[in-house]
Amino acid sequence: MVIEYNGTVLRNEVAIRKEKVYRSQNRAVFMFRIDSEHVVDATQSGGIARYINHSCAPNCVAEVVTFERGYKIIISCIRRVEKGEELCFDYQFDTVEGQPKIACHCRAPECRKWIN
Ligand SMILES: [Zn+2]
Repeated sequence: MVIEYNGTVLRNEVAIRKEKVYRSQNRAVFMFRIDSEHVVDATQSGGIARYINHSCAPNCVAEVVTFERGYKIIISCIRRVEKGEELCFDYQFDTVEGQPKIACHCRAPECRKWIN
Protein backbone atom coordinates (compact mmCIF):
# COMPACT_ATOMS: atom_id res chain seq x y z
CA MET A 1 0.00 0.00 0.00
CA VAL A 2 1.24 3.48 -0.88
CA ILE A 3 -1.49 5.87 0.15
CA GLU A 4 -5.22 6.25 0.67
CA TYR A 5 -7.21 8.43 -1.74
CA ASN A 6 -9.06 10.61 0.76
CA GLY A 7 -12.10 12.74 0.13
CA THR A 8 -15.78 13.07 0.81
CA VAL A 9 -18.08 10.26 -0.32
CA LEU A 10 -21.00 11.70 -2.29
CA ARG A 11 -24.04 10.22 -3.91
CA ASN A 12 -23.86 10.30 -7.69
CA GLU A 13 -26.42 13.10 -8.10
CA VAL A 14 -24.58 15.34 -5.64
CA ALA A 15 -21.25 14.63 -7.32
CA ILE A 16 -22.65 15.61 -10.73
CA ARG A 17 -23.95 18.92 -9.31
CA LYS A 18 -20.68 19.66 -7.52
CA GLU A 19 -18.61 18.90 -10.62
CA LYS A 20 -20.68 21.42 -12.60
CA VAL A 21 -20.10 24.04 -9.90
CA TYR A 22 -16.34 23.36 -9.81
CA ARG A 23 -16.10 23.58 -13.60
CA SER A 24 -18.08 26.84 -13.63
CA GLN A 25 -15.50 28.16 -11.14
CA ASN A 26 -12.70 26.97 -13.45
CA ARG A 27 -11.35 24.71 -10.71
CA ALA A 28 -9.45 21.48 -11.19
CA VAL A 29 -11.80 18.62 -10.32
CA PHE A 30 -10.55 15.61 -8.35
CA MET A 31 -13.17 12.89 -8.14
CA PHE A 32 -12.91 9.12 -7.96
CA ARG A 33 -15.88 6.95 -8.89
CA ILE A 34 -16.42 4.10 -6.43
CA ASP A 35 -19.44 2.55 -8.13
CA SER A 36 -22.52 3.63 -10.08
CA GLU A 37 -23.97 5.35 -6.98
CA HIS A 38 -20.97 6.83 -5.13
CA VAL A 39 -18.09 9.19 -5.90
CA VAL A 40 -15.25 10.38 -3.67
CA ASP A 41 -14.79 14.12 -4.05
CA ALA A 42 -11.21 15.16 -3.26
CA THR A 43 -11.50 18.61 -4.85
CA GLN A 44 -11.73 20.64 -1.64
CA SER A 45 -10.71 18.26 1.14
CA GLY A 46 -8.66 15.51 -0.44
CA GLY A 47 -5.17 14.29 0.28
CA ILE A 48 -2.13 14.24 -2.00
CA ALA A 49 -3.24 11.01 -3.68
CA ARG A 50 -5.56 13.13 -5.80
CA TYR A 51 -2.51 14.34 -7.72
CA ILE A 52 -1.50 10.86 -8.90
CA ASN A 53 -1.64 10.87 -12.69
CA HIS A 54 -3.09 8.34 -15.09
CA SER A 55 -0.93 5.96 -17.08
CA CYS A 56 -1.76 3.21 -19.56
CA ALA A 57 1.22 1.29 -18.10
CA PRO A 58 0.84 2.10 -14.40
CA ASN A 59 3.06 1.13 -11.48
CA CYS A 60 0.11 1.32 -9.05
CA VAL A 61 -3.49 0.23 -8.88
CA ALA A 62 -6.44 1.83 -7.10
CA GLU A 63 -8.69 -0.55 -5.21
CA VAL A 64 -11.96 0.19 -3.49
CA VAL A 65 -12.21 -1.60 -0.15
CA THR A 66 -15.53 -1.79 1.67
CA PHE A 67 -15.49 -1.31 5.42
CA GLU A 68 -18.32 -1.46 7.96
CA ARG A 69 -18.79 2.30 7.81
CA GLY A 70 -18.13 2.94 4.16
CA TYR A 71 -15.40 2.81 1.57
CA LYS A 72 -11.69 3.36 1.35
CA ILE A 73 -9.71 3.79 -1.86
CA ILE A 74 -6.28 2.29 -1.50
CA ILE A 75 -3.44 2.98 -3.94
CA SER A 76 -1.00 0.05 -4.02
CA CYS A 77 2.13 -0.68 -6.06
CA ILE A 78 1.87 -3.50 -8.58
CA ARG A 79 5.59 -3.59 -9.34
CA ARG A 80 8.86 -2.25 -8.00
CA VAL A 81 9.00 1.55 -8.12
CA GLU A 82 12.40 3.09 -8.73
CA LYS A 83 13.64 6.07 -6.73
CA GLY A 84 12.28 9.26 -8.28
CA GLU A 85 9.76 7.39 -10.48
CA GLU A 86 6.34 9.02 -10.68
CA LEU A 87 3.45 7.03 -9.21
CA CYS A 88 0.54 6.46 -11.56
CA PHE A 89 -2.50 4.25 -11.98
CA ASP A 90 -4.99 3.50 -14.73
CA TYR A 91 -8.01 5.76 -14.18
CA GLN A 92 -10.23 3.25 -16.04
CA PHE A 93 -12.63 5.98 -17.12
CA ASP A 94 -15.73 4.75 -18.90
CA THR A 95 -16.43 5.87 -22.43
CA VAL A 96 -19.56 7.99 -22.24
CA GLU A 97 -21.29 8.75 -25.51
CA GLY A 98 -21.44 12.47 -26.21
CA GLN A 99 -18.59 13.33 -23.85
CA PRO A 100 -15.34 14.60 -25.36
CA LYS A 101 -12.41 12.22 -25.43
CA ILE A 102 -9.55 13.03 -23.07
CA ALA A 103 -6.13 12.65 -24.66
CA CYS A 104 -3.58 10.60 -22.74
CA HIS A 105 -0.03 11.90 -22.42
CA CYS A 106 1.45 9.05 -20.39
CA ARG A 107 4.12 8.30 -23.04
CA ALA A 108 3.99 4.56 -22.35
CA PRO A 109 4.75 2.40 -25.42
CA GLU A 110 1.37 0.73 -24.96
CA CYS A 111 -0.50 4.03 -24.52
CA ARG A 112 -4.15 3.80 -25.60
CA LYS A 113 -4.05 7.50 -26.66
CA TRP A 114 -7.22 8.29 -24.72
CA ILE A 115 -7.98 8.19 -21.01
CA ASN A 116 -11.70 7.60 -21.65
ZN1 LIG B 1 -1.54 6.52 -22.09
